[in-house]
Amino acid sequence: MEPVKAYIGLGSNLGDRAGTLLQATERLQRLAIGPMRVSGVYETQPVGYVEQPDFLNLVVELPVVLPPLELLSRLQRIEADFGRVRDIRFGPRTLDLDILLYGDAYVCFSMLQVPHPRLWERAFALVPLAELVPSRRALGGGTISRRAERLRQEGGVRRVGDLRQAAARVSQAEMPHPG
Ligand code: ADP
Ligand code: MG
Repeated sequence: MEPVKAYIGLGSNLGDRAGTLLQATERLQRLAIGPMRVSGVYETQPVGYVEQPDFLNLVVELPVVLPPLELLSRLQRIEADFGRVRDIRFGPRTLDLDILLYGDAYVCFSMLQVPHPRLWERAFALVPLAELVPSRRALGGGTISRRAERLRQEGGVRRVGDLRQAAARVSQAEMPHPG
């Protein structure tokens, strides 16, 4: 199988969000056949079920030789390892992993649709994705970067730095105060 670039959206809104994302990207790197690219980290307000903490989100580009359903099951395994419990749909989760894009492919199974069906309306996915593939076409015309810019203007999405900065900032904040 030829390598395919898969774009995975990561989200976390429970516990040590940045630490979870950092560890999750390390797990994702092991699924890849080459180096991955990582977007910046964004703090985003929940959409859908809004009575829950803000998320941290980012997107990674992974070169893989795994077919789509195999990739999905690997992602679900990683979500489970981070203790995600599927209770409230769109509700709080320690880790959410979505396949946003799989090369240029259209995938349509009952359990997996790619491009992700809600990608084009979700600033928390599209804004970090636009850092990696700004000039790709968006559904309905225009580039991903233009669509992301429009969604960003609606608010609720703030870039907080790169992944290592975000993770370092949290662990510093959690250090006990001297004395
Ligand atoms: P969401 O990510 O939209 O908040 P969930 O993470 O709860 O929702 O996922 C619900 C279901 O979505 C999963 O069980 C999975 O089978 C399905 N699904 C469909 N398309 C995708 C995709 N592109 N990436 C990940 N999951 C998907
Ligand atoms: Mg999901």
